[in-house]
Amino acid sequence: MAVPALANEPLLRVEDLRVEFPTRRGRLTAVDGVSFEIAPGEVLGVVGESGAGKSLTGAAIIGLLEPPGKITGGQIVLEGQRIDNLPYHEMRQIRGRRIGAIFQDPLTSLNPLYTIGRQLTETIRTHLPLGETAARERALALLRAVGIPAAEQRIDQYPHQFSGGMRQRVVIALALAAEPRLIIADEPTTALDVSIQAQIIALLKRLCREHGTAVMLVTHDMGVIAETADRVAVMYAGRIVEIGPVREVVRHARHPYTVGLMGSIPLVGRDVARLAQIDGAMPRLNAIPLGCAFNPRCQKAFDICRTQRPDLRRVGPVAVACHLFDMPPADAGRPP
Ligand code: SF4
Repeated sequence: MAVPALANEPLLRVEDLRVEFPTRRGRLTAVDGVSFEIAPGEVLGVVGESGAGKSLTGAAIIGLLEPPGKITGGQIVLEGQRIDNLPYHEMRQIRGRRIGAIFQDPLTSLNPLYTIGRQLTETIRTHLPLGETAARERALALLRAVGIPAAEQRIDQYPHQFSGGMRQRVVIALALAAEPRLIIADEPTTALDVSIQAQIIALLKRLCREHGTAVMLVTHDMGVIAETADRVAVMYAGRIVEIGPVREVVRHARHPYTVGLMGSIPLVGRDVARLAQIDGAMPRLNAIPLGCAFNPRCQKAFDICRTQRPDLRRVGPVAVACHLFDMPPADAGRPP
């Protein structure tokens, strides 16, 4: 089921995406029929535990799936252009120019052997028609925009001369260097001190709003999503189990897994020591249960949950894949 973005013309459309890993015992499905859209300038949060398939979905969009993982079904469409079947060099052009990336470890994106100024100006000149001086000016402006103090001096320093938080600011500058339409941010603050995390998320959100850049924010942290995203997609065992406006999902989580994730967010007035835990663990790819993949961990599971996989269907302003919300077929086909 395709779930529309906020605007009529989506920036990104992911349709029935499937990512598989071939093994000696057959193929393992890590992303299983995932569909969503992102509107221009929208922040879509993608949340779930480790192994839910959220990072793989991001990697598939940006063309950086690690072999032997590969896209075996569906399509990815960016501004009307199908991009999941492009040759490597064409996808490389799109990466950086039209889609920027921010990963958990800033050192994944930064070359330790080059100054950050060189890395920024090279990225800028690869994608934009600017000379050396103008590119350096742009690099300096970006470093100032992301809050690097004394940017004129620091532009000629190497990544190891920056703290973790400052390095992630540089990566954000690098991701924005060519004015991409979309940024895929995969756990951008997980490796940072808690005190720095909120600053980096606020910075990312502010800059993307100023530049009109859409963001797919991948994280295990529902609290980050609640503060940052316009809409949220909750993933479990390779599928989207709930998707909708973030306020709606945060206030009225419907899928039992989302309810569990919400229970783990510390809120003002809630006793942190008694935060809810979801018992059990995400199933391994070779042991996904029959029926609803969440059924062994779900306190609301009933008979049909153990035999029939629930499809995403509209429930008010969101879409949910859970038999608790099964409706007559006439209602089920309408988009949320
Ligand atoms: Fe729980 Fe059944 Fe809903 Fe799955 S379909 S989340 S097992 S109630």
